[in-house]
Amino acid sequence: MTEKQVTREVFDAVMVPNYNPQKVIPVRGEGSRIWDQADKEYIDFAGGIAVTALGHCHPRLVNALSQQAQTLWHLSNVFTNEPALKLAQKLTESTFADKAFFANSGAEANEAAFKLVRKYSYDHVGPEKNEIISFTQSFHGRTLFTVSVGGQPKYRKGFEPAPGGIRHAEFNDLASVEAVISDKTCAVVLEPIQGEGGIIPATPEFLRGVRALCDKHQALLVFDEVQTGVGRTGHLYAYMEYDVVPDILTSAKALGCGFPMGAMLTTEKVAKSLVFGTHGSTSGGNPLACAVANEIIDIINDPTLLKGVSDKNKRFIDGLNAINAKYGIFKEVRGKGLLIGGALNDEWQGQAGRFLQAGLAEGVMVLVAGPNVIRMAPSLIIPDTDIEQGLALLEKGIEKVVSEGSNT
Ligand SMILES: *Cc1c(COP(=O)(O)O)cnc(C)c1O
Repeated sequence: MTEKQVTREVFDAVMVPNYNPQKVIPVRGEGSRIWDQADKEYIDFAGGIAVTALGHCHPRLVNALSQQAQTLWHLSNVFTNEPALKLAQKLTESTFADKAFFANSGAEANEAAFKLVRKYSYDHVGPEKNEIISFTQSFHGRTLFTVSVGGQPKYRKGFEPAPGGIRHAEFNDLASVEAVISDKTCAVVLEPIQGEGGIIPATPEFLRGVRALCDKHQALLVFDEVQTGVGRTGHLYAYMEYDVVPDILTSAKALGCGFPMGAMLTTEKVAKSLVFGTHGSTSGGNPLACAVANEIIDIINDPTLLKGVSDKNKRFIDGLNAINAKYGIFKEVRGKGLLIGGALNDEWQGQAGRFLQAGLAEGVMVLVAGPNVIRMAPSLIIPDTDIEQGLALLEKGIEKVVSEGSNT
């Protein structure tokens, strides 16, 4: 039987319409290059969506996955497994944390964190200490609890009633946190760099101030490092550069580099509240995902690799600024490490998607972060020649859009 080639039309026929994927279907990737069904080549500045931190099909990850695939896939949580234990050792040795819980995604890691902060305060103070403070524009995943904690109302519209006990403050505005924090607060949750919200780094003063407010009100501080973690900012986790230590940290995306993987890390004291039977996941911490994540941490938690991320940051920022000098579309080029945003100026508000499309047509994949920011989150080991070539393709796309003119 010959297999018929599937096309983009099949998506509309048989998939729930919650996504609207591009017309082209990528079929193959290697390093920072991707090929579609027509064998057109792309330079990948997207990294999936800040996920494939070691590019596509990294030989060491392929090997780790294949080895484990021939050894053991699943056990249930009636047993533990060697890859999970080794990974938990690595993560706790290299971070503030003493304990790990494994999940399959960022949303699930956050769900575990949000349940844990409630449970911890319930255990130590009482049920009335249950309020979670998060921030407008924040993103924490798509489960009902995580879209409710998240600061983008469009993601929970129509899905109400949402869980209660959640308040939103303004990011980088300590006074707005002071206005809502109280002894009823069980936790403050934030992304050290708001990702989906537009690549907005927290200021060091803000993080220090939030830490102090949490201590004053006996609230836990949760850092959602699903996007900023595992080397993305040039540090294993972004909190390390800020030198502000959370009580709970969540990680996913690059932790699996495309294999579904999530983790919640915390201290011994806080972990105690998730006593036997209080939380769980059938596939979380499975041997396949943990074998891959072990290899990822071994490769990325390396001073040379992390230093390279900072060097590549400069290459991107310089390149984007040079493009901007010609076309004047950005009001700011910002971000840390290889999480970079070009914030469109007033003339181009709402049109980030046009630049993404134009880049794709030229053969470079970029992301958006909301309608006003072009986002890049490439492989942490993207070769410099690919950066230069990708920026040249992006410039061509930008030139096209600019020559067509703004919509506004
Ligand atoms: C992507 C993301 C999530 C959600 O992760 P999923 O794996 O899609 O559930 C949560 N928080 C942040 C900061 C993210 O960037």
